[in-house]
Formats: sequence, C-alpha cells, structure tokens
Amino acid sequence: MKIRRNPTRPVTIGSITIGDGHPIAVQSMTATKTQNIDATVEQAEALHARGAGVVRIAVDSDKDAEALAEIRKQTKANLAVDLQENFRLAEKVAPHVDKIRYNPGHLYHHARELTWQEKVRYLIDIAGSNHCAVRIGVNCGSVDPAKKGKYDHDDSITPMLESALEHCELVDSLGFHNFVVSLKDSDPSKVVQVNTLFAEKRPDVALHLGVTEAGMPPDGIIKTRIAFEQLIGKGIGDTVRVSLTLPNPRKPEEIDAGKQIVDDIHAGRVRSVVKFDDSKLNIISCPSCSRVENEAFIDLAAKVKEMTAFAQDYAITIAVMGCRVNGPGETDDADLGLWCGPAKVNLKRGPEALGAFGYDEILPKLKQELDDLIAAKQ
Ligand code: SF4
Repeated sequence: MKIRRNPTRPVTIGSITIGDGHPIAVQSMTATKTQNIDATVEQAEALHARGAGVVRIAVDSDKDAEALAEIRKQTKANLAVDLQENFRLAEKVAPHVDKIRYNPGHLYHHARELTWQEKVRYLIDIAGSNHCAVRIGVNCGSVDPAKKGKYDHDDSITPMLESALEHCELVDSLGFHNFVVSLKDSDPSKVVQVNTLFAEKRPDVALHLGVTEAGMPPDGIIKTRIAFEQLIGKGIGDTVRVSLTLPNPRKPEEIDAGKQIVDDIHAGRVRSVVKFDDSKLNIISCPSCSRVENEAFIDLAAKVKEMTAFAQDYAITIAVMGCRVNGPGETDDADLGLWCGPAKVNLKRGPEALGAFGYDEILPKLKQELDDLIAAKQ
C-alpha cells in the first residue's frame, strides 16, 4: 500500500534521520537500573542490534548521568534520555546522548524558580550546542494544570493539543527545528484523535507515536496496532514505540512488535476490523524502566490481569504503574489505580488515595474495591 507520508521536516538523531520521507524509526527503552552499566549496555546493544533507531534511558540523578557517560562509550545505539522535573540534568546528559525528551507538563512545577518559557529556552540552548534532537513529549497523565483547568474534565484532547502547539511555537521562535512531538494517551482512540488534530495544524512537525501504558502482550500490541494502523495509514508518524509491560531480563519484543506493525501497514496487511472494545475491562500498565521501585511490579501487573479476569464484561479501567514519578498522576483517570513504591503499593479509586498496602496484601484490597465498583454498576 503506497502511503503518502506527511511532509514533515527532517530531524537528525545521532546516525539516523526521521521525517521528510525517511523510514519510520522504531524505538524502545532500557528497563535496567541505569547505574548498572554492564546490564544497561547489554540491553541497549541488544535493542540496537534488533533494529532500534533510538534507545531511551531513564536518568534521574547525577549518578545516573555519570553512568550514562560510560554507557555512551560502550554502545553504538542512538541514545535518548527523558527529563522529568529535573530539567537541569540536561546539562550533564546532553554531551552523551542524541536526543533529549522533555515533558511540557513537568515544566510548570516549581515555577517560582524559572518560568516554563525560560526552562524551554535553557533546554533548547543545551540541545543546540550539543547537537541533540529534542522530543516535546506531551502525556495525558501530566498535562499543564492551567490548560486542563480551562476545559471540561471530559476533554483531555484539547489541553494536550494546545500544550504541544504552544511549545512548538516557542521552540520554532528560538530558531531550533530539530525536534519531534509526541502526544500519548493510554486510550488508542484518543491517540488517533489528538495526533490527527495536531498533524492537521502542524503537518511540518515530525511525530513520534505511541500508546502509553499499553500493558502486557498481546493486549498491549493490539491496542497499539489499532492506533498505528489509523495514523500511519494516513501518513502520520515518523517514529514509533510499542510500550509493553515485559518481564526482566527484557528482550527486544517492543522492537519486534513495532517493526511488524509498521511492515504490515506498508504491505497493506491492516486489521482495521480490530477495534478497541471500551465496553470491556481495560488493564493498563506501564512498560517499566529504570525507575521501577520494586521488581515485584511486573509480577503484580500479571497477577492483576489474572485476578480481574472475572470482570471482563465491565467497562472498568485498572491502571498498574511502576513508580512514584509517573504513578500518582497517570492513575488519576483510571477507575482503580495501583502505583508501586519500594515496599508498599498505593491504591486509588479515581484520583482518591485509599492507602498503601504490602505487596502481599494488595490483591485482596483491589478485589474488594472491584467488587464494590461492580455492585455499584448493577
Ligand atoms: Fe518507568 Fe515509572 Fe513510567 Fe513505569 S511509570 S515506565 S517505572 S517512569
């Protein structure tokens, strides 16, 4: 199937270029502790050998940044880092990576220190002087609170879109064009909607596609395929990631799944009859990364899926997240949410915190909440 790709600008990320008709690059992320240099190099190399265009590594501290410098020397993979609220780490990581991702939603905290515009200027300045690409990564779970407040609670699309467009405008005005945008949600239909709207407004800006917290295979792959088929089929998307919750040691399943979906779409093997059924139980879980606070998270995500199978026919969303960085925010929109700390798992009903429970206590607590939710629906 000949797909007419959107006329996006080229973006150079280390040894690859995306956009401007270049092949769609497939990305993944390491899930090892970043300071475990050998294990992280091994995982980055395995992903690179399997065809990863870019490998993302989580960096949260000066020690992680020091490890990154060593990792850089030992792998040929194009490396990216994601900055959370610690935007000042950019200075330490930029010399060792090919792309920096920042999340606009994380630049509004501690606003007394610098405005978000000043923070963006600082990041772009560092990216430019270190020849790094930038990803403006907008995420449904961490949108600028002022933008969220302007619209109905049910409208999660407009704040994301507005945030992305505003950041593009600022970055463009700084004379920096080596950037890509992502707009991610855990609901594939919202991913399609928000990326389609963005591409209509800014067909020149390269897009990185992904369904966040898609969960475990096969469900995670199916949700992602639904979104990618509709977007890539319309010429939208220059890089992709299939975010899967996978057991460690992680193999390059995300790369295999991403390549397969992109190849199938180009060959016309689309399965658009597959629709995401939002009348059913939906388990979303993060793909895990170096920030996971207890390795029991992966096992817990699998047990949640198993334990809740009896509730298949209810339109209920349960989110299972691996850490405190994204866990609290990204469980807000789920009916029930779990986010994992080092010794306890935090349980939520919507945005309301219900307490923290041991890893061996959490499943009965979740079952109780789920039973109550089902009873309330009857
Ligand atoms: Fe990593 Fe935390 Fe996101 Fe999971 S929720 S992928 S552990 S940052």
